[in-house]
Amino acid sequence: MQMKRFEDQTVIVTGGARGIGFAIAERFATEGANLVLGSIEAEVTEAAARLNEGGGSAFGVLCDVTDKSAVQALYAAAVDKFGGVDISVQNAGVITIARIEDLSEAEWDATMAVNTKGAFLCCQEAIARMRAGGKGGRLINIASGQARDGFIFTPHYAASKMGVVGITQSLAKEVALEAITVNAVCPGIIRTDMWAYNDRVWGDMLGHYGPGELMAEWVQNNIPMKRAGEGSDVAGLIAFLASDDASYITGQTINVDGGLIMS
Ligand code: NDP
Repeated sequence: MQMKRFEDQTVIVTGGARGIGFAIAERFATEGANLVLGSIEAEVTEAAARLNEGGGSAFGVLCDVTDKSAVQALYAAAVDKFGGVDISVQNAGVITIARIEDLSEAEWDATMAVNTKGAFLCCQEAIARMRAGGKGGRLINIASGQARDGFIFTPHYAASKMGVVGITQSLAKEVALEAITVNAVCPGIIRTDMWAYNDRVWGDMLGHYGPGELMAEWVQNNIPMKRAGEGSDVAGLIAFLASDDASYITGQTINVDGGLIMS
């Protein structure tokens, strides 16, 4: 029998139109939640429609998470439609790859703006809405294995995701007495558009792990479970952290990576 742990609960997923974010949204929809997806491309509306075809209750909002007023509008739309916000998943993220001599200031700023400032703005708005609702809530920030162990050619991305862990720990302490938990999740190598990008660039251009080595080979050689993850692998952990079973877990950073990083 399908569990409906999130019936009557409202979940916001930024970057929910595709990749890990869409897998998270699908999981919550399957378990009965109302979904609000925020993304920068118009495909977010189609993504919500796909969830509704499966019996969900979802809608999409165009939202650039680097824009405070757009973030406020995203959460306001959720409250208008569903009456509140119970769970907020800060998933929107970007990556680029460059050798240090080629890494531009603009690239640094753009990465920090989406990954770190975007998480901050969404957490800020989510907490305000959860406080107003008076029922507590769950914040889950998508960090990265690079929040544990910086990968080569991505110092900007590693810094941005380590920042996400800092936000998580600080806020977890601030809201601990308000029945709001704040946790972070660190995916390893997950098969999405972002992963495909890495496949091309790390393998062909940078070749650090051997001439022409592709991410598929890297995965075989470095991940104990010898496979890349799927969005659903991440979604299962997110659903657990949002569930009643996780009510005493806060300020934690949890890896979901097939054993890639064990610290
Ligand atoms: P994708 O590139 O497949 O999707 C990224 C999502 O973020 C898209 O929906 C995109 O929106 C959205 N997005 C990007 N910029 C913004 C913005 N400014 N405002 C709102 N939304 C934005 O990536 P993944 O699904 O792989 O990644 C999801 C998260 O997981 C990211 O935070 C990433 O850093 C993290 N992660 C991914 C790993 C992996 O191996 N894939 C590993 C570790 C962490 P749109 O669809 O509108 O373009």
